[in-house]
Amino acid sequence: MIKPCIAKREVTTHILKSFGIHASKKLGQNFLVDESIVRQIVDAAGVTPADTVLEIGPGIGTLTQGLAEARAEVVAVELDRRLVEVLSKTLAGYDNVRIVQGDILKLNIAQEIPKKGFKVVANLPYYITTPIIMNLLEQRLPIECLVTMVQKEVAERMVARPGGKDYGALSVAVQYYTIPEIIFCVPPKSFLPAPAVESAIIRCTLRTESPVKIISEKTFFRVVRAAFAQRRKTLANGLKAAGIAPAAVANILEEAGIDALRRGETLSLDEFAAVANAWEKYHTGQ
Ligand code: SAM
Repeated sequence: MIKPCIAKREVTTHILKSFGIHASKKLGQNFLVDESIVRQIVDAAGVTPADTVLEIGPGIGTLTQGLAEARAEVVAVELDRRLVEVLSKTLAGYDNVRIVQGDILKLNIAQEIPKKGFKVVANLPYYITTPIIMNLLEQRLPIECLVTMVQKEVAERMVARPGGKDYGALSVAVQYYTIPEIIFCVPPKSFLPAPAVESAIIRCTLRTESPVKIISEKTFFRVVRAAFAQRRKTLANGLKAAGIAPAAVANILEEAGIDALRRGETLSLDEFAAVANAWEKYHTGQ
């Protein structure tokens, strides 16, 4: 089967025109029009015919086509009903692609992909990038890796190390669950319409073991949230604001070996784990 490549400006323009579709800004619709980038995304995910891939927001089928050509089993979830109709035409003939109409934040993914392991490959809608990534990671789905196009600034936050302005709760969470790496940057001109910001492809390889020893994951993330809730506050004040009694905070930080005047944004994953474990021990009276 020879199909025209969708990832070209003139083909995308033609498809949108013939279906009378204007890209929805509200749904973050910026369509890729660069076939070399589609190829590089598929390569970055190491997609093979043995893979099952979850694609979020297939749009008119641009990246989906690249994944289908790599002969993976593709489950593509699109919210916009108008585009689901377009996809039934642009991807007709690819029997390894299944389109699901729905909101990725509400969908029961485990039910849609009851397989053991799968990859997530997507050019994400930027207005909900963080909720989508956090929702996928927190569900503990059997994901091998996530290769996604995100705003460059978000990618930088995901890989940020302690101490810088980009380091925050997103950095800690992503680095706790995965090993993230920025693969390459993508300029606005690679999309139709062009977004106002630079983009980047980030690959997050899921960890098979926790990078830190923690007693309770829930407490770990409570500490992280408290530390970043008010960035200007010291860690001690952040913990107090989260409802821990001042005497307990002093005790917890001493037990964890963390200077009470440090700010949350300077703590490594290991240090957050030490505080969380001290909190947990204090709480249970151990
Ligand atoms: N994959 C296409 C491409 O690379 O050209 C389109 C990417 S576009 C940046 C993001 C896509 O996500 C749009 O098709 C949009 O309709 C879809 N989308 C937005 N919100 C969604 C949601 N909550 N669940 C599923 N898809 C969504």
